Amino acid sequence: MNKGRQGDITLAIIIPCYNEEAVLPETAKRLQNKINALIAKSLISDKSKIVFVDDGSQDASWKLITNYHTENPHLFSGIKLSKNRGHQNALLCGLLTMKDFCDAAVSIDADLQDDIEIIDKMISQYKSGSEIVYGVRSERKKDTVFKRISAQCFYSFMKMLGVDIIYNHADYRLMGKNSLNALSQYREVNLFLRGIIPMLGYKTSFVYYARAERFAGESKYPLRKMLKFAFEGITSFSIKPIRCITTLGIIIFTVSLVMIAYSLIQYFGGRTVLGWSSMICSLWGIGGLILLGLGITGEYIGKIYLETKKRPRFTIEEMLCEAADAGH
Ligand code: UDP
Ligand code: MG
Repeated sequence: MNKGRQGDITLAIIIPCYNEEAVLPETAKRLQNKINALIAKSLISDKSKIVFVDDGSQDASWKLITNYHTENPHLFSGIKLSKNRGHQNALLCGLLTMKDFCDAAVSIDADLQDDIEIIDKMISQYKSGSEIVYGVRSERKKDTVFKRISAQCFYSFMKMLGVDIIYNHADYRLMGKNSLNALSQYREVNLFLRGIIPMLGYKTSFVYYARAERFAGESKYPLRKMLKFAFEGITSFSIKPIRCITTLGIIIFTVSLVMIAYSLIQYFGGRTVLGWSSMICSLWGIGGLILLGLGITGEYIGKIYLETKKRPRFTIEEMLCEAADAGH
């Protein structure tokens, strides 16, 4: 099934902002031009919006957003969070708040490091039936060497842990109303959108672009936040680290059985000093048992952890049913 979408599309561009006064004037200008160009090309409707989500900034960001809204309330909207809750939460807030007022939403960072020229392609992919269109960096020469290497390690590590994330895709993507509704059913507090969105399913496609440099201001993702984000991604999606403890427990416990047998043989052969056998037996035995016990307990904690997320067990994309037709 590959249904295209006809008619006017109301687009919302969602931009999380944290202390972005240095970039906001330029960003607002560039996005306004972009939206106007898209409207002129009849790719989107004139009800489309640019939505800034102020993530508890301490600088003049909110004042700027308020000014844009006052000057052009039809185009610019603003959402102010009561305190800094982090990029992922700010982004989720924007997406979920706007989902009932738009057909599709594009999320993008305030510094426009991600090329806004590909929004046209995203929309045409959406029109030809894609529900989620991922913006993927074809190269990141403009990023620092450290950022490139750390990102590469992170993607590889996540893959190793069995987490389905899209290589070189950050949070620049287009999502249709259906996938936004599906996303709203994920109620987890520890948010890692890049892991959740591929879980939603639907028809997806990719648009490639070269990542630019931040044109003003500084990165709001210092090393501390980056590590926290990576750790969040790993612990929110994988219980493999717990599995490692269980495996280690099994290995050590098996070795301990061999060691116990060995020390008993030595003991009965009279080749030991007094106390050595009992020491070795208890050392290996207890060590192995503790690790195994930890692993097994961990397995249960892993299950509890997955249950408490209350993730939806399925998402219906379409339904062919007489009763459902009558309802519409
Ligand atoms: N951001 C946010 N809350 C935060 C940190 C960052 O809303 O606590 C926003 C920030 O304003 C930007 C986006 O998240 O729009 C990405 O941040 P940045 O460009 O600094 O990250 P980098 O590109 O350096 O990874
Ligand atoms: Mg950036």
